[in-house]
Amino acid sequence: MNIFEKIVAGEIPCKKVLENAKFLAFHDIAPKAPIHVLAIPKKCVKDFNDVSPDLMAEMSDFILEVVAVLGIKDKGYRLITNIGSDGGQEVPHLHFHILGGGKLKWVDLV
Ligand code: AMP
Repeated sequence: MNIFEKIVAGEIPCKKVLENAKFLAFHDIAPKAPIHVLAIPKKCVKDFNDVSPDLMAEMSDFILEVVAVLGIKDKGYRLITNIGSDGGQEVPHLHFHILGGGKLKWVDLV
């Protein structure tokens, strides 16, 4: 089980933001912005390369609910999903970083 599957199973605690039958959003343990939340499908999909259009459509709806709950939907935020080793993905379970709560800078990535 990867670490996010353990969070879904309740074996590792998380600071939950929103949950439904298929998705979970929780605060990142090492925030990179004033608000840094991760949105994941409960079912393990490795990354964006592997997600079906149907699941991605539901994921998008869930993310929009999360940003509404966080109060950042209108002010703006950044969505990031890292894919594979060049993408810097550490946890092999699809997740979207939701970053906001302030004016975000654009940083050099390489
Ligand atoms: P990535 O590098 O895109 O795979 O991102 C993985 C993210 O998971 C990082 O931002 C970590 O800080 C975060 N993370 C790792 N373990 C936990 C945890 N137990 N609870 C919350 N976030 C975590």
